[in-house]
Amino acid sequence: MSLAAVLAALTGIASTDAAECPRKDALGTSRILSVDAKTTPRVGLKSFPQTLALADHEVVLTFDDGPHPPTTSKVLAALAQECVRATFFLIGLHASEHPDMVKRIARAGHTIGHHTWSHPFMARIPFDKAKSEIDRGIAADEMALHGTSTTTPSTPFFRFPYFEATQAELDLLQSRGIVVFGADLWASDWNEMTPEQELKLVTERLAAAGKGIILFHDPKARTAAIMPAFLRYLRENGFRVVHVVPAGTSQKNADTR
Ligand SMILES: [Zn+2]
Repeated sequence: MSLAAVLAALTGIASTDAAECPRKDALGTSRILSVDAKTTPRVGLKSFPQTLALADHEVVLTFDDGPHPPTTSKVLAALAQECVRATFFLIGLHASEHPDMVKRIARAGHTIGHHTWSHPFMARIPFDKAKSEIDRGIAADEMALHGTSTTTPSTPFFRFPYFEATQAELDLLQSRGIVVFGADLWASDWNEMTPEQELKLVTERLAAAGKGIILFHDPKARTAAIMPAFLRYLRENGFRVVHVVPAGTSQKNADTR
């Protein structure tokens, strides 16, 4: 491991509690929001009529499809530098390949949600196959996190690949008390573009929306590249980062996980 990687790892482990942030002028995490499947089973205006109760200029940062160590570690370093916490929706297959990176994300205080085992189009496969994609993904994430293979997620947050779901799949997750996260806006970082273009696009969309759940992909190099500048933009434009945790998680637990 290079010195830079060691330093990044150490920074990642450090608490990102705003009060304990080593940099006084950092963006910081402004508050923790508990999300309960009983009251908000589905959130995100791109897919659903309702979203999280965010105030103007509040954002929730979410990253899908990791972990992918080369870029995920850069995203973690940028988040740690500004003392902000995010949510990572992991692909189970990737979690099983990189369990140390999964543990590192969790140790840095971020929330870990689930994003299936192999990222299929969930509305185009039989229900049984979809159910097994959900369960196998959760089990792989939990194995990476805690060494236990269970289909009961320690954090009951799930996001569908491509935001594609059937009603039966949505009902299944609701019956299991798992919150389905959509997004309110995204960086379109799956499209070919330069980091500068991505930064311009996502900041313009955020300025227009004023708040919301933002979707990025941490395996994308352009997203890892813009994260320091994007967080600086948030700080300089009065945005505040909200950290989402499952209902029943006390702030103390959220801070020391
Ligand atoms: Zn995805």
